[in-house]
Amino acid sequence: MNILIRNARVIDTRAGKVNEPQDVLIVNGHIADADHGTTPDIDREIDLGGKYLMPGLCDAHVHVCAATANLPDLVRWSPMYVAARASEIMSEILMRGFTTVRDCAGADFGLVRSVEEGYLVGPRILFAGKAISQTGGHGDMRSPGENWDDCTCCAGLGRIADGVAEVRKACRDELRKGAHFIKVMAAGGVSSPTDHISSTQFALDEMTAAAEEAAAQNTYVAAHAYTARGANRALECGIRSIEHGNLIDDSTFDLLLAKNAFLVPTMSTHEVLAEQGVENGMPKDMCDKVFEVAEAGHRTHAAAHARGVNMVFGTDLLGPMHQHQLREFKIRSAFQTPAELIRSATIKAAELFQMEGEIGEIIDGARADLIAYDRNPLEDISVLQAPEQHLKLIMKDGRIYKDAL
Ligand code: ZN
Ligand code: ZN
Repeated sequence: MNILIRNARVIDTRAGKVNEPQDVLIVNGHIADADHGTTPDIDREIDLGGKYLMPGLCDAHVHVCAATANLPDLVRWSPMYVAARASEIMSEILMRGFTTVRDCAGADFGLVRSVEEGYLVGPRILFAGKAISQTGGHGDMRSPGENWDDCTCCAGLGRIADGVAEVRKACRDELRKGAHFIKVMAAGGVSSPTDHISSTQFALDEMTAAAEEAAAQNTYVAAHAYTARGANRALECGIRSIEHGNLIDDSTFDLLLAKNAFLVPTMSTHEVLAEQGVENGMPKDMCDKVFEVAEAGHRTHAAAHARGVNMVFGTDLLGPMHQHQLREFKIRSAFQTPAELIRSATIKAAELFQMEGEIGEIIDGARADLIAYDRNPLEDISVLQAPEQHLKLIMKDGRIYKDAL
């Protein structure tokens, strides 16, 4: 199917500016050069009438299977039921304009295949499979009184591995199942019953082993960590992205810059959990941990941005709180301009995902992941936050999912 989009004010995500109205040609799901070569037969023409066309948004930290904020409970759900609940979360993510997301634990090859084959509607999903956690780590959902053995077939988001051999095996197993990258729990977290935010997790040789296994298969490791201590250890072991990072400091910024690594703040989830975590099913003692990190995130991420750290858009929302996904733009607008925010959700994400040239910008050969707004988000980022009102077209791989032109 070949589509010609006419009169599009294309947003150049790299330059952070809008081009004069132009035509954009889509051939077999990819953007083709509209000005050169012979134009193929056009199956459909869409006139944007000067509306703003940009690449689809990316969210580098989601959990489409986290249909409840009570993650220990999720382990007891039927995986099939989780998939049904995930389908709603995924279609809503796409309808907000996100055409690629990185699932940082939970999604599997079956769910991704269902989207690719059109059985479910959703964004392109890059998945980690199960997040790898040490015993008693952020991925261990057992309460102190529970002693069931870890199982990798249930609907939880994590799996447990201790020691280099088990970590290597867990990484290889997730990659065998098609994981696009590896996720490790490198330090304490909020939504786990027995660990503390301040703890570090995994020994250095365990994390180094994970980085080696990922690199062996041409991919990378993302690490959950809030503190400088936790994040720095992970970065020293060769981890590519630090997830959350609310309590990192200058020493972490130095390492992020030196290693050309990425920071994926998830500020909306902390803000929303602090406001309404308990009513959305998160156990109270877990929710109390949120306050430790929410406030600090504002200062830390503004400072990281000022230092020029690679910062990518991420949200990490759970359960019904997914509806606040676009709030992340507003929160970060305290320290990032609209052009910087858009970059973090397009080309910066593409870089982290190892998908440069494929997504994140409207260039010859890129995938036709396109969204169109009736107002210019570079002038007012809140345009992105009201998709019902302003988002007029959603296309992924050349297929149209919303046409409100
Ligand atoms: Zn996390
Ligand atoms: Zn997460």
